Formats: sequence, structure tokens, C-alpha cells
Amino acid sequence: MSRARVVVVGAGPAGMMAAAQAARLGCAVLLVDEAPRPGGQIHRQPSPSLAGGAVSAAARPEAERKRRLFERFARHAGSIDHRPGTSVTAVYGLDRILIADETSSQLIRADALVVATGLHERVVPVPGWTLPGVVTAGALQALLKGGRVRAGDRIAVAGAGPLPLVAAAQMVEAGATVPVVALLRPLWLGLLRDPAALWAGRGVLSEGWRWLSVLRRAGVPVLTRHVALSVSGDGAAERLVIARHDGRGRPVPGTEQRFAADTIAFNHGFTANSDLARMAGAETRFDPRRGGWLPVRDSDGATSVPGLFVAGDAGGLAGGLAAACDGAVVGAAAAGWALHRDAGRFAAQAATDRAERARHWTFQAALAPSWELPPDIHALVTPATVVCRCEGVTRARIDRAIADGHDGLNGLKRNTRAGMGSCGGRSCLRTLAALAGPRGEGEAVNARPGIRPVALAALANRVSDESMGS
Ligand SMILES: Cc1cc2nc3c(=O)[nH]c(=O)nc-3n(C[C@H](O)[C@H](O)[C@H](O)COP(=O)(O)OP(=O)(O)OC[C@H]3O[C@@H](n4cnc5c(N)ncnc54)[C@H](O)[C@@H]3O)c2cc1C
Repeated sequence: MSRARVVVVGAGPAGMMAAAQAARLGCAVLLVDEAPRPGGQIHRQPSPSLAGGAVSAAARPEAERKRRLFERFARHAGSIDHRPGTSVTAVYGLDRILIADETSSQLIRADALVVATGLHERVVPVPGWTLPGVVTAGALQALLKGGRVRAGDRIAVAGAGPLPLVAAAQMVEAGATVPVVALLRPLWLGLLRDPAALWAGRGVLSEGWRWLSVLRRAGVPVLTRHVALSVSGDGAAERLVIARHDGRGRPVPGTEQRFAADTIAFNHGFTANSDLARMAGAETRFDPRRGGWLPVRDSDGATSVPGLFVAGDAGGLAGGLAAACDGAVVGAAAAGWALHRDAGRFAAQAATDRAERARHWTFQAALAPSWELPPDIHALVTPATVVCRCEGVTRARIDRAIADGHDGLNGLKRNTRAGMGSCGGRSCLRTLAALAGPRGEGEAVNARPGIRPVALAALANRVSDESMGS
């Protein structure tokens, strides 16, 4: 008889720990990630072919956490079938999960499925944001960590939450000049009112302090309560215009400032990669601060679909440390389900991780207000601004569709083609939802097969499929 199998999607901190835990508890584990190496967003590693490279990744404060995570994973790696460079592109049910690499595809089955797919960045569009040279703050990091490349020489950064600040400091350490970091809100206000959160997050805060010191030493102005108004340049980004805002996101007249830059990076928070869980039928709820449409899950990560679990940031932004603990908790629950149809069976095995996760969650809850966008910020998206860059759909086109009564996200998509391009709506759906108002945010867009791009040759080359109970 074959062993009960746990399939884990995503080899970030959450997926690595879920896989290690389920393997430790006796399950056969398949760990699938589209990246060439494990680590996820936070511990992204260069491709094995990039041993050296022009610029080294500035990952020093993360090094110790990374070492501990990889050490724990390595203890069970021998019992984990890790498939790098492989994506899960559809979930029709736990007995039919479609995975694909560059050359082949396969339908696999799971006794328990853990979705640990993390999140992606959110950007509020401004005039000029589609010019070459405009990137996300996370892309600055991905190029540095994954490709050993610095995106530019003079890099202006704007947005919300801590990522713009961290990415800017990493660029300074990599040798770039940063003319400004413009943040919508101060980062620490929520924390100062909450001593328990300050204590719980002291380790992360000391890292944050270090990044702030890097910026201070380099003389980088960090401006809070500032909003990006536009990017301009002759065929490519050359300058960023920002202004103080009135608390609601509207610029205060006379406070505009221009900063010359060859690269401009934005980050206005994150959107959870919840599409696989939604395709499998999991209920969702909308949480604007923690990642938009989030699968509803209990403290074991169990969703409304029996056997389907969500771990880490795919269930809502909580950071890499919480994701690793959450992965260990969810891995134990998934193993309990796969082996005994009882998610609580191994709860005691994950008690330490559960307690540590609670501490990280306390800290993250206090940090969450820094991601809250001022209520009028989308008033800055002018009628001519492109909202969906894949399909070239402007705000004016979207406003017309809303005026015609298409204010649900799926209706807007069908009527304007926004969100139908090659990125699958990753860069525009949150803006569309915000423009459409409560109905837009209340209705998650339908998740369809083909969540990640797959080569037709890979689909045509189906290797032997597995059926339930094999
Ligand atoms: C762009 C970005 C930058 C960040 N920068 C920082 C930072 O500087 N400091 C910090 O403390 N935190 C940062 N964070 C947050 C931090 O990365 C996360 O909190 C942490 O990595 C969450 O771990 P996770 O395992 O839940 O998800 P992740 O680490 O995001 O891992 C998810 C994994 O799932 C894989 N995946 C997704 N979909 C599929 C699919 N369909 N098929 C196969 N594989 C899939 C991805 O390749 C990825 O490896 C950042 C997050 C993002 C998105």
C-alpha cells in the first residue's frame, strides 16, 4: 500500500517547514516550487549557474534566520521529493492537481494539499508608471538576490509599509544612490501604542533599525505622509514627483518635490496568492491590509475544503518568521489529516511553533496599519493612466464600465479585458477592486486553470498520471 501523501505548493519558509514537518511525521511529501531553489521570496537564492555576479546580495540580517530554516529543512530533505522549476497550474480537486515544468506536465493526487504560495506586490498606478525603469520594490530585491544585479544607479522608492525602506537600504548597500524614500504613513505609530507588540517584534525591529541607519548614513531623506504623483521621462523613467498628502491621500498644494532617478520602485503592500485555494473551492474573505482575498482558515490552516490547507503569507501577510512557524503547525495538521483524517492528531508536536507564531502575529498585527492606504489615494489615478498594463486598459475605460453597471470584478474583467493579460491580473486586480468600491472588493475574481503560464509542449507531454488511491 502506498504511503499517505502530502503535496506542498511553495518552497518558501512556510512550505519548507510544512514539508519537513509532514515528512517527520511519516508522510510521503511532494514539494513543488516554480523557483529553481528553495527559500521563497525572503530567502531567494541565485540560480546555481550564478556563483559570482556583479553585485552581491545584501542579505546579512537575514542570514541567521535563513541558516536555521535551511538546517531544519535539511534534516528531513532526504524524505521529501522536491521538484524545483515546477508550478502547480490548476487544482481540480485533491485527486487532480496539475503540475508542469518546462517540458512535461502531470496530474497528481494528494491526501492533503498545503498551499504555501506566498503573496505578490501591489502597486497603485500613477501617470508614467508603465515607463521603462519603473519596477516594484520587491523586483529590486529579486534582481539583487536572484540575479546578482542592481536595477539602477539612482533609485527612488515610494509606497507603504516597511518594504520600500528595506529595499532602498539594500540598494544603498549594493552601491546605488537613493535620492528619496517616500512613505504614505509612518511605520511605527501602531507599534508605539502596543508595548507587547514592541517586545514580540524586538528582533525584527532591530533589523529595521539597522536598515534605517544605512539610509541615515547615506543621507537618504525618508519622507512620511508623502504620496507619489507621477513618473516622467523621455521614453524611460527620469524623475519621480511626490507631494505631502492631507491624510486622505490628496496632495497638499505647493508641497510637490521632484527627484531625478534612472529607476523608480513602488510597493503599496501585497496581495495573497490565493488563486489555487480559491480554484479548489475554498471560501475567502477580503482583508485590505493583509493581502486582499484571503482563504478562510482555522489556526491549523484548514480551509472550508476538507484536506486543503493554507500556510504562511498565502493566508495573509505575517512575515517570514511567522510563515516558518505557521508552516510547521500546518504541516502537522496536514499530516494528521493525510494519515488519520484528523488534523488535530499531531497538534502537540507543533506546540512550540504555535506559541512562537502567536508572538510574531502580535507584532505583525501592530504593524498592519502601515499598509493601510489613505482612502482617497485612487483619486490620483487620472483618466488617461493605464491600470491594466498587459491589456492597455485605462482608468477612463474602467470608469465607463462601472458607470454602465459592471461594478463586480468579474463583470469589469469581461467588459474591459482588464486582468485578462499574461500576468493574470496580478498587477491590476486590486486597483480595479478599489475603483469599483465595495462590490469589487467583495467579489474575488474567478480562478481558472492556467494560474501559472505553461508551455503548450509541456501540456502535450503528459507523463503518467496518478489516480486516487494508487
Ligand atoms: C516581493 C516581496 C519582497 C519581500 N521582501 C521582504 C523583506 O525584504 N523582508 C522581509 O522580512 N519580508 C519580505 N517579504 C515578505 C516575506 O517574503 C514573506 O513574509 C515570506 O517569504 C513568506 O513566506 P511564505 O513561505 O509564506 O511565502 P514565500 O516566501 O513567498 O514563498 C512562496 C513560494 O511559492 C512559490 N509559488 C507560488 N505560486 C506557485 C505555484 N502556482 N506553483 C509553484 N510554486 C509557486 C514561489 O515560487 C515561492 O517560492 C517580501 C515579500 C514579497 C512578496
